[in-house]
Amino acid sequence: MDDRPSRRFMPRTLATRALGVGRPPSTALTPSIDMSTTYARDPDNGYSSGHVYGRKDNATVQQAERQIAELEHARDAMLFGSGMAAAAAVFVALPPTHIVAPRDMYWGLRVWLLSAHRYGHEVSFVDMSRLDEVRSALRPGKTGLIWIETPSNPLWTVTDISAVADLAHRAGAMVCADSTVATPVLTNPLVFGADIVMHSATKYLNGHSDVVAGALASADRSELWLRIKDMRDQQGAVLGSFDAWLLTRGLRTLDLRVKEQSRSAALIAERLLGHPAVGAVLYPGLPDHPGHAIAARQMPNGFGGMLSLRLRGGAAAAITAAAQVQLWRRATSFGGIESLVEHRASIEGEGSPCPDDLLRLSVGLEDPNDLYRDLADSLDLLTRM
Ligand SMILES: *Cc1c(COP(=O)(O)O)cnc(C)c1O
Repeated sequence: MDDRPSRRFMPRTLATRALGVGRPPSTALTPSIDMSTTYARDPDNGYSSGHVYGRKDNATVQQAERQIAELEHARDAMLFGSGMAAAAAVFVALPPTHIVAPRDMYWGLRVWLLSAHRYGHEVSFVDMSRLDEVRSALRPGKTGLIWIETPSNPLWTVTDISAVADLAHRAGAMVCADSTVATPVLTNPLVFGADIVMHSATKYLNGHSDVVAGALASADRSELWLRIKDMRDQQGAVLGSFDAWLLTRGLRTLDLRVKEQSRSAALIAERLLGHPAVGAVLYPGLPDHPGHAIAARQMPNGFGGMLSLRLRGGAAAAITAAAQVQLWRRATSFGGIESLVEHRASIEGEGSPCPDDLLRLSVGLEDPNDLYRDLADSLDLLTRM
C-alpha cells in the first residue's frame, strides 16, 4: 500500500502524486470522503479491495447505500442521481408488462407513467386505498408490478402495504413502494411485504435541501434487482461522492428530524382543524382521515411531517394564504429542516388531479407554535377579506 517514492523526484512529480495513494485512514470519527474515480491494483494485478472504478464502486456512495439498506431492513440498496432516476430504473429494467399504479401519486412519476407505453408497458391507475379496485385491475400472470406510494402526494392517501403485497404476489406481480414521505423512520415497506422500496433522497433522507438523490432498496437480489443494478452501472445514473457524503451526514439525524417533524405536523393539523378559512385538513394522523387506522398500524412512530389544507375560498384564497405567510418559505419540494408551503396545483399544471384549493405544507424544525401562529395569522386575514 505504501507507495512513497524510494528516490527523490522533481517537485512537479511530488505535487502530482499528492503524497501517494491508499494511505491508511486516520482515526477520524466523521466519515471521510472518497472522491477517487479510480483505485489502485494489487501487486499481483488483482483488485482485492473490490474497488475498481468510481462509477460502480465509490466507497462514499457505498457507505450511504449501506446506511439506507440497514434503515430499510434491506439486503441491498442503490443510490441514483435523483429520485426520478431511481424510479425510472425500476420501470425501464422491467420487461414489457402491465403495471398498476395509484391515481394519487407524485406528479412527476405520474407523468412518466403516462408515457410508459414507450417501454412497452401498459398502466392502470386505481385508487390504491380500495383493495377491490386493486383486485379488479390485476391481470394474473400479466401484471408485473404494482407501484404504491404511501402516504401519497399531495392528498396523503394511505395504502395498506401488506394487503396490496398479498394481492400482488398471488397474481405473480412485484410491489415497489415509494416511501419518500414515510421515510424508514415511520414505515419499512419491505417488512410489510413490498419487494423494492424507493426514496427521493432529496427529501427527508438528506433532509437539508442541498442534495438531489434517489435510492432503491431490495429485500433480495431478485432477477429484477440485478437487472436494475446492471442498468445503473452501465447507463451511469449514479450519485456523486460529495452528494453521497452529504447524504450520509443527513442520515445521521434522520430519526430525530422525522419524529420531531411528525410531532409538529400533528400539532399544527389539530390546531387548524376548526379554522373558519379551512374546509379540510388532510393528515393521516387525524382520527377522521380515511386511512388513519392503517396508518396507525404501518406508521408506529408518527404520521409524517406532511399535511395539506383545502381552503374554503378556493384557489385564490390558497394562493393568497401562501403569499401572506412570513415564516414558511413558499417553494416546492419538502422534507428539509425549513418549513415550506406550496399551492400544489400551480406547479403540477394542466391536467393535474390536485384540487386547486389545496395548500401543501412541509413541516420543518422551527418551533411548532411559531409555525402555527404564522399560518393562523395568514388564514385569519383571509376571513377578514
Ligand atoms: C420528489 C419526489 C420524487 C422524485 O424525486 P427527485 O429526487 O425530485 O427526482 C418521487 N416521489 C416522491 C414521492 C417525491 O416526493
